[in-house]
Amino acid sequence: MRPLGPAALAAALLVPLAGCTSAADGAEPRPQAGVRPGASEEDGSGSGAPGAQDGRADGGAGDGDGGPLSGFTVVIDPGHNGGNADAPGEIGALVPAGPGEKECDTVGAESADGYPEHAFNLDFSLHMRDELEERGAEVVLTREDDEGVGPCIDERAAIGNEAGADAAVSVHADGGSESGRGFHVIAPGEVEGFTEEIVAPSRRLAEELRDAFAEDAGLPVSDYLGEDGLDERTDLGGLNLSTVPKVFLEAGNMRNAEDAELLEDPQWREEAAVVAAGAVAAFLTSGDAVRG
Ligand SMILES: [Zn+2]
Repeated sequence: MRPLGPAALAAALLVPLAGCTSAADGAEPRPQAGVRPGASEEDGSGSGAPGAQDGRADGGAGDGDGGPLSGFTVVIDPGHNGGNADAPGEIGALVPAGPGEKECDTVGAESADGYPEHAFNLDFSLHMRDELEERGAEVVLTREDDEGVGPCIDERAAIGNEAGADAAVSVHADGGSESGRGFHVIAPGEVEGFTEEIVAPSRRLAEELRDAFAEDAGLPVSDYLGEDGLDERTDLGGLNLSTVPKVFLEAGNMRNAEDAELLEDPQWREEAAVVAAGAVAAFLTSGDAVRG
């Protein structure tokens, strides 16, 4: 949301904007304002941290009975953060990303008229959260505002792991070439010693998302990346470090005018987020996930 100032622009030059996940992957957290570090130990609701008001652990509708998703936990990870551009040192620091290391986070993409991906990611994620909570799921966000820095990609993965998520979705929008259209979903490829356990269920989650988005989001599958709207990556820390089924949704290409028109439309974001939430629900109730 915050306009890019000179410092941000300078940072943007240092941190590649293209393909929001291409350079360093865009997805994992670091406990930031309002976000409890990795759902701490047990259910530290007693931590009393001022920032812990959240819709995380105790999100209303998600508790108790009610709703077909009752008993399921979903982690939604809005990629990047609004303060990243002003903190090149912090987000440029190397963190574990699986077999190797990567930058903590990146600035993310931006549409031609300046709508930043980090703002898109958060808004879309909040709508997903609302829909999933309405259906009874417990939802944990890796960040809840668009003002902070990070969290780093490894922390974003840790939040999903510590929450014991039944499914985790990183929300992004790509920064491809102007001529490329469409959305794609990234699933983890096999990385020895890291992703073996999550490749298969993550693939099913990716397919649910791809199918639902292709059918109901009004956006074609990517014509410039992946295959039939699916891509597999072994270089994303957010996936490599996940021990729970996890995918990245690249909801569209911010650099493409047609895609951007949708991505910048608040109503589209809400409707498409409901579609995405429905796909997560379908995954959870298909037998691939176990309640509790
Ligand atoms: Zn991104």
